[in-house]
Amino acid sequence: MSEQPILAGVIGDPIGHSKSPRLHGHWLSRYGIDGHYVPMRVAREDLKKVLRTLPKLGFSGVNVTIPHKEDVLKLADSVTDRAALIGAANTLTFTKKGKVQADNTDGVGFLANLKQHQPDWSAGAGPALVLGAGGAARAVVSVLLSDGAPEVIIANRTRARGETLQESMGARVKTADWAQISELLPQVSCLVNSTSLGMEGQPPLAIDLTGIRPTTLVTDLVYAPLRTEFLDQAAQLSCPTVDGLGMLLHQAAPGFERWFGQRPEVDEALRQAVLAP
Ligand code: NAP
Repeated sequence: MSEQPILAGVIGDPIGHSKSPRLHGHWLSRYGIDGHYVPMRVAREDLKKVLRTLPKLGFSGVNVTIPHKEDVLKLADSVTDRAALIGAANTLTFTKKGKVQADNTDGVGFLANLKQHQPDWSAGAGPALVLGAGGAARAVVSVLLSDGAPEVIIANRTRARGETLQESMGARVKTADWAQISELLPQVSCLVNSTSLGMEGQPPLAIDLTGIRPTTLVTDLVYAPLRTEFLDQAAQLSCPTVDGLGMLLHQAAPGFERWFGQRPEVDEALRQAVLAP
């Protein structure tokens, strides 16, 4: 036990929906750590002041969620290469001198989730098709490339946004029109929904997956609902599927380890704790 409880948390606006307090709370009690993980609603205009104050209050670090994920990069004292490439940070660690180190663990969380549920799969197996070009898609594309994908095709409703993402990621990345998705399906080994379609309160991702190979790994970043229509359709076509909850769980692990000094396990008990009503 440390002399004082270790403090960490999550900053965003709004913050009430965040599952991170429950997730970190589960780990804190599981490992018997004397610490607290605090949700903090932080308005945009207060972000700079808050980042200077939290280390002085004894915080070891925080997770960052909407709308601050991009803004924190400009305020951090150091930024990891992967956070710079993605253009956003979700994990901040404070040094003893109050310096802010920004990292992005969304990509490694995405990959760890796939590897946990489909251990024989690797991005090197073939081309990947990524739907969407927002912040989450940036993390997905970067980590598919670093895991050896020979080609990553981005199909986004707004093609220009996909092209901007392509330009920052290099020669193995291509873009396609949203209308081309069906014709691309037979050639890909991995299909990722990183749009917000299918999320509770949003329209479903209405794509006909006929023509997809039954070996293609299909994954959805949406985790509410846990089983989306998109994943159900893929499963009916015999494709292996992975839901998005594991990405949320795995992206949290590096921050927990840095702040609380314990490498946490992502297991069924954690999933159930986060899913509990
Ligand atoms: P974002 O930056 O707002 O991007 C949203 C994406 O969805 C854009 O590509 C947008 O296309 C597309 N989109 C929205 N409405 C659409 C429609 N009607 N038709 C076609 N495309 C549409 O959001 P984000 O941060 O990337 O997050 C995307 C999703 O990933 C969300 O559901 C989020 O909850 C989820 N996510 C999950 C995790 C996890 O841990 N599992 C982590 C991060 C994010 P345009 O560019 O054309 O607008």
